[in-house]
Amino acid sequence: MINFSGLPEQYKRLSASMAISIEQVLQDCCYICGAQVDTLEEQLAARTGSSFCLCCANGTDALTLAIMAWGAGHGDAVFVPAFTFAATAEAVALRGATPVFVDVNETFNIDPASLEHAISTIRQEGWLRPVGILAVNLFGVPADYRRLNHIAAREGLWLLEDAAQSFGASRFGRASCTFGEISATSFFPVKPLGCYGDGGAIFTDSRPHAETIHSLRLHGKGSSKYDHRIIGINSRLDTLQAAVLLQKLSIFDDELAARNENAKKYTAALSRFGIAPVIPADTVSAWSQYTLRLPDRVTRDRLKLELSTCGIPSMVYYPAPLHLQAAFAYLGGRKGMLPVSEATCEQVLSIPVHAYLGQEDLALIISTITEFMIKKT
Ligand SMILES: *Cc1c(COP(=O)(O)O)cnc(C)c1O
Repeated sequence: MINFSGLPEQYKRLSASMAISIEQVLQDCCYICGAQVDTLEEQLAARTGSSFCLCCANGTDALTLAIMAWGAGHGDAVFVPAFTFAATAEAVALRGATPVFVDVNETFNIDPASLEHAISTIRQEGWLRPVGILAVNLFGVPADYRRLNHIAAREGLWLLEDAAQSFGASRFGRASCTFGEISATSFFPVKPLGCYGDGGAIFTDSRPHAETIHSLRLHGKGSSKYDHRIIGINSRLDTLQAAVLLQKLSIFDDELAARNENAKKYTAALSRFGIAPVIPADTVSAWSQYTLRLPDRVTRDRLKLELSTCGIPSMVYYPAPLHLQAAFAYLGGRKGMLPVSEATCEQVLSIPVHAYLGQEDLALIISTITEFMIKKT
């Protein structure tokens, strides 16, 4: 039985050094804000080329802290893709702002044309004030930030990068986590860089944003421990998780290269069926997922069953677009509003792509899908 995440194999590889790293934290007894958190923040900033990195409790908090830094709230519209994990829009809604759902394109990311249309519609209606764009790098592929930056500048909007699935990716010769005025990532265990629990980080080149977020994540802390200048939240990364992440970072490039190799083999074998993911030029995906696009729901579900019969796990990320989810029904989303997102939810199937797949695993997965596609057509 093939594993979907590769986490058991990764633990085997790291277990000796991981035990030493964790034991050090237990001996130091500095469980919150320990030295490992500072070291990690320095390494993450250096790696991405970002001026500031601030770790926090999870990826949803990273988005929330960014939105708090801009002060978005009631009456404000934030443009969000409809095809993403719920946390993206949840962070907006929890601040009292209104997520405005936008369609995606063949790359699974926000469609700049649909975004422009949504901005002008919201301006014409006049009920909400457009304040920001929250773009997601789904499955590890950075969105089209050249066009998004252009739209944001022209419209006077801020741009937040949801890099929860794309740590390690690059596009236009730049690293993910540097595309937004603020960028947010997640260290949830199955993300490209994952810890042994929850964790997240915020990246920015802006000193004022970094200072605000530094305070916000520590209860709005001012110049001393019991001086509070603003209302903040409690969102810190545990020292234990930082120690875990430092170990995982040491093998990250090797794992990323292996995922890229696997993805290359899949695409070479499967692109003739028109089901391989579309990766824009000048892009290195973090390959948090390798997601096939089948012609329709019936074919997708049949392939999922066929794979499962052969001991191959697969996942549907995501089965429903956010504008049709009960949690966001108050926004008045209707079927047919965002046709590409809706169709995509019926077509997608993610297959294992992790760094610890053996050559026999890859061969089995490729031959199973190939035979299915030939039989089907
Ligand atoms: C995982 C994820 C988040 C949330 O991260 P958590 O650490 O689980 O809070 C946000 N956005 C996207 C696109 C994600 O995949």
